[in-house]
Amino acid sequence: DFQSNRPEGGAKPASNVDAVIVGAGFAGLYMLYRLRQLGLSVRVYEAGSGVGGTWFFNRYPGARCDIESLDYSYSFSRELEQEWKWTERYATQPEILRYINHVADRFELRRDIQFDTRVTAAVFDEATNRWAIQTDDGASVSARFCIMATGCLSAAKVPDFKGLESFKGRWYHTGRWPHEAVDFTGQRVGVIGTSSSGVQVIPIVAEQAAHLFVFQRTPSFSVPARNAPIDPAYESWMKANYAEYRRKARESRAGVVMDVNEKSALDVSPEEREREYTARWKKGGTGFLGAFSDLRIRRESNETAAEFVRARIRATVRDPAVAEALLPRTYPLGTRRLCVDTHYYETFNRDNVTLVDVKTSPIEELTPKGLRTRSAEYALDIIVFATGFDAMTGALLNIDIRGRGNATLKQKWADGPRTYLGLAIAGFPNLFTITGPGSPSVFSNTLVSIEQHVDWLTDCITYLREHRLERIEATVEAEDGWVAHARELVERTLFPLADSWYIGANIPGKPRVFMPYVGGVGAYRQKCDAVAARGYEGFTLT
Ligand code: FAD
Repeated sequence: DFQSNRPEGGAKPASNVDAVIVGAGFAGLYMLYRLRQLGLSVRVYEAGSGVGGTWFFNRYPGARCDIESLDYSYSFSRELEQEWKWTERYATQPEILRYINHVADRFELRRDIQFDTRVTAAVFDEATNRWAIQTDDGASVSARFCIMATGCLSAAKVPDFKGLESFKGRWYHTGRWPHEAVDFTGQRVGVIGTSSSGVQVIPIVAEQAAHLFVFQRTPSFSVPARNAPIDPAYESWMKANYAEYRRKARESRAGVVMDVNEKSALDVSPEEREREYTARWKKGGTGFLGAFSDLRIRRESNETAAEFVRARIRATVRDPAVAEALLPRTYPLGTRRLCVDTHYYETFNRDNVTLVDVKTSPIEELTPKGLRTRSAEYALDIIVFATGFDAMTGALLNIDIRGRGNATLKQKWADGPRTYLGLAIAGFPNLFTITGPGSPSVFSNTLVSIEQHVDWLTDCITYLREHRLERIEATVEAEDGWVAHARELVERTLFPLADSWYIGANIPGKPRVFMPYVGGVGAYRQKCDAVAARGYEGFTLT
């Protein structure tokens, strides 16, 4: 019985618990909430000094969610959903952080969380069917279940530039932003990276800096956010219809209720295409991708959308040479994360902003005074690395995870991640990954994916308990089947054509394996539910 070790009061670090959860972002908090409801003893370890994960660390100016606030929120508590008031269509990082702190307080979650503590290792003991989890404070805890809620985008990546330590100015990574505001006034600033975080931070820094140099390797496609205060009528409608709306979101492709045009972009006239793209461009947000049904599967269709965005860039950016340099041409639209911006392209019309193409003239080194590319040197006071993350696998592989036979996850994933349903790994019993590689995760409104995984895991643990089982492990056959299925789906799309972080291309030496599941959250949920309904098909239970 894995309920036997429930610590009295729960406040003290326990050396024996039913479950350890690693991470106190949206995933870890909800998992804690559900396992506590089951009466399990739970310990959460969080490397940061507060809850929130992504929204705790990414405090850079302009950080904001790309999914609308009313969608990007927990659905598990009707009272929470009804009482919380979002202020804007897209919530800012501070507002999301306030929300998740409110959740932690409201459900009294903090008492089971140990902050400022990094999990360094997790080792499975076959004799007892328990995990020994080690932390960087030297402690070790034993747990029946080890649940990795470590986040897909939590291992920040600072590129390995020569000379970084010699740079005399200040530098920051967007994903590890300091808690006190960074003042750019009067400074010469370099931003390296022009994907989602870069696109958000650049317009704000440009307003403050004496001069901003934007170092761009690959231009992004970006659509306007059209952010605004929440429309009270829309909010009232949503709050009256939340249950039904959430149901639709769960059954959708991306975890948001989106108006997806079922037509092919090639089956309509150029005028109709233009109308469709213009309407979505005016509305703002990633709904742009729903303009036609085949934008992510047919190159020619995709090219019509890509050309539409390029035309907007040309129309916005006054200097034709700068506009040309901002045009994404080397990959289909939407195969790298589509950015959502507020005045990104307009920023390049400012006199104090210079775009530097580091594809043709790469950054060679950082110097005490700034940065040197192959063709020029730039004096800088502050460098901002908007260089992203070792996505999806980085945080997991930073932990020394050893399963049956002391086999390491690192070895097992040497050629890329392999999971069953993105939830479990053959050879690693009783270990689970929330939004792991092989699940929709970053290809969705992540909160929908998180809640689905947590609910599924809660049911799974309940099942084990009811059947007096101690151990669950994915079979190699089920895992192989899932990996093959996921690959087959992605090969029918345009995604493999892009060098994206989805495929590990941003990390030198990372295996080129497409990590998120592209089959859609609705279809994915059905598969997970079917697995459970068939008594956890593809798992060995003992
Ligand atoms: P995280 O929030 O990443 O939390 C994981 C936690 O685990 C972290 O706090 C980390 O410190 C901790 N951790 C990791 N390893 C260890 C360890 N070894 N020991 C102890 N603790 C550890 N998603 C969307 O759906 N829509 C968006 O618009 C969107 N915008 C984003 C914008 C930015 C800038 C970023 C970075 C991400 C964005 N995301 C977005 C993705 C976002 O990560 C998820 O939506 C969500 O916040 C993930 O929650 P999580 O709990 O799974 O992971």
